[in-house]
Amino acid sequence: MSGTTPARPSLTDLPLDAFEPLAEELGEKRFAGRNLARWVFERRVHDWDAMSDLSKRFRTALAERFVVRRTVVAADRADPGGTRAFVLRLADGRSIETVLIPEEERRTVCVSTQVGCPVACVFCASGLDGLLRNLTAGEIVEQVMTVQDVLPAGERVSNVVVMGIGEPTMNLTALTQALSTWNDPRGLGLGARRITVSTVGWPARIDRLAALDKEFGLAISLHAPRQELRQQLIPNGGQVPLAELLAAAKRWFARTGRRVTFEYVLIEGKNASPREAAELAALLRGFPCHVNLIPVNPVAGLPWQRPAPDAIDRFRAILLEAGLDATVRHPRGDGIAAACGQLRLEVERDAGTGAAVGRPPTTPPA
Ligand code: SF4
Repeated sequence: MSGTTPARPSLTDLPLDAFEPLAEELGEKRFAGRNLARWVFERRVHDWDAMSDLSKRFRTALAERFVVRRTVVAADRADPGGTRAFVLRLADGRSIETVLIPEEERRTVCVSTQVGCPVACVFCASGLDGLLRNLTAGEIVEQVMTVQDVLPAGERVSNVVVMGIGEPTMNLTALTQALSTWNDPRGLGLGARRITVSTVGWPARIDRLAALDKEFGLAISLHAPRQELRQQLIPNGGQVPLAELLAAAKRWFARTGRRVTFEYVLIEGKNASPREAAELAALLRGFPCHVNLIPVNPVAGLPWQRPAPDAIDRFRAILLEAGLDATVRHPRGDGIAAACGQLRLEVERDAGTGAAVGRPPTTPPA
């Protein structure tokens, strides 16, 4: 016997449907389970004593079996535009990055789904060390709750983008539960249209998200109009045939009624010439979509540079001339290393805790 007490699970890891049965199991009425979920997710209370409308007996039984975990903010940096990058320390000592992006009335939280990332996009800080582990559903959900806790009174998280560290569809079960907890009125009650999942794109997994029959947003990281170039830029994901990826995007649109956003990181000398713009226009012509052009964020140790502003304008103009809807998203938070997990890597490396335990897979998931 080691003498150590096994860690109790966190209520934030439970699906919403489990709360009423849990109350019954512990001798309470089902509505006590609904009230418990409200304390955990809506009111974000950790302290059993504060859950004043639950019986003392229920709270005692819960405390013996569960905790209400909250990830700890290990670093918090803001840029002058208001973007804030948080490094959140998990219970096992690993860390993730979560970003708050305030824009006019919106308070958008960019959440992570994995510690590290197996996809290894060549321009991304998070791919440098490979995948460490998947996040649990609760660890994904809690990121939004933690940011809500630091917002001034009267401000609420309005949007969630699953675009932080990790490939969300490689952690699909936890992602699906987190989407439900954010969206369901018994959880955080955020409208589905205010939640967007960004993926490199595996057709079968896009289909599984579409089958949720919710109006979530979908963003597909395309980054190249040609197969071989995409594979170069996205080593562990770019091998999905482009025709199959686009077919999945069309099925998504047909089922959800929501047009897909294609994300395209612009890298000088790699994928940002008029040739690539014309090829991209030809690839997407006639498909109801939005193209988001993102000048690459320089990452220490990587050679990639942004194209000049007039080259970015030219690229976009070619898409517009082809009738596509295209915007340029200027990366926010450069000054705080907010892009793709840079801040987390800096903090991890300073602390000497960032070594990967696994290398990226060489085959894509089914
Ligand atoms: S850009 Fe996204 S998918 Fe690619 S390595 Fe970074 S975190 Fe992973």
